[in-house]
Amino acid sequence: MDTDEKAQPSLTIDGENVTLDDAIEFLASFEATVGCPICAAKKWNVSLTPGDEQYLFLATTGGKGSVKYGLAFFITECDSCGYTRLHSLAKLAEWKKKKKSTAPSHGGEL
Ligand SMILES: [Zn+2]
Repeated sequence: MDTDEKAQPSLTIDGENVTLDDAIEFLASFEATVGCPICAAKKWNVSLTPGDEQYLFLATTGGKGSVKYGLAFFITECDSCGYTRLHSLAKLAEWKKKKKSTAPSHGGEL
């Protein structure tokens, strides 16, 4: 029997697997609830992979046409007007690594 449930979007960033749920939990971990600066709506849609297993990447260049560096992002988009914020995927991966390292052990320690 087939199921309609799709695998949750995930990426590997800096050696850490991050999922859409991680991105949502990361944003929710901050105290502030920020309304949209354009329309003041407070509903944001989160997208980790705007394309199939693709993520937003902004390249930097020295002007000679070659891309040397870039920054990777996940996005939040205002549900009302479409204003879009960029959040660093590296920061999300760093947050998840730190969260895992401080999680209580599930082992049989005495
Ligand atoms: Zn808005």
